[in-house]
Amino acid sequence: MLIKVENLKKEYCTGEVVTKVLRGLDFIIEEKEFVAIMGPSGSGKSTLMHILGFLDRATSGNYEFEGQDVGKLEEDDLAELRNKKVGFVFQSFNLLPRTTVLENVKLPLIYSENKKDLDKRAEEVLKKVGLSHRAHHLSNQLSGGEKQRVAIGRALINNPEIIFADEPTGNLDSVSGVQIMKILQNLNKEGKTVILVTHETYTSEHAKRIIHIVDGKIVSDSNVNNRRKAQDGEVLK
Ligand code: ADP
Ligand code: MG
Repeated sequence: MLIKVENLKKEYCTGEVVTKVLRGLDFIIEEKEFVAIMGPSGSGKSTLMHILGFLDRATSGNYEFEGQDVGKLEEDDLAELRNKKVGFVFQSFNLLPRTTVLENVKLPLIYSENKKDLDKRAEEVLKKVGLSHRAHHLSNQLSGGEKQRVAIGRALINNPEIIFADEPTGNLDSVSGVQIMKILQNLNKEGKTVILVTHETYTSEHAKRIIHIVDGKIVSDSNVNNRRKAQDGEVLK
């Protein structure tokens, strides 16, 4: 079991006002799943992704990752999990402009790796995202779809177990969007767990499982087996 969340809640306090964003989520995600988290804008999808990706903490409830209680981990441990286990792809590609595709992809490891190994690895990931021929182009010379492929390459450079993609096709035309989804699908076939946040049906159709969230609650999960089992007498909402 890769991820298990139980009664996960997140609230934001702004002055006197408490906003309940996640209102008790329960699910299990196994290794090598491809899950789409869907829901309308404001339903809590990004908040959930940030918690699952160790960028933020839940207010209450349990989050277990590979058997570890994430709530009990120190900031340093969270940073290590983030660096070693996960790759992020966001809607706005977040590339450095006036910097080559190759340099952008290498960025996360620029201080840690042996330079020769890193160059080789960067070439491999560019091949995976179909951009070898653009390696020495500047990122601002690329189309949106190409930029997102660079961002996927950058997310892959540390060979993460999980890819978190938050609305990765949100800024793209549907042809480029489908290309991005096919890359994510291939990565999943090669053994990566993919957790995709989207509100578009055409992207979610590439996933193997869809969890719908509305107002911070799960309203449907296409893989009921991977929901937490109810305790005696408990009704899961
Ligand atoms: P989604 O990704 O589904 O569009 P979000 O997770 O980004 O939704 O946001 C869910 C709700 O939480 C929204 O109402 C948003 O305004 C609120 N929210 C998100 N981040 C914060 C924050 N840092 N402080 C206060 N409210 C927040
Ligand atoms: Mg969002």
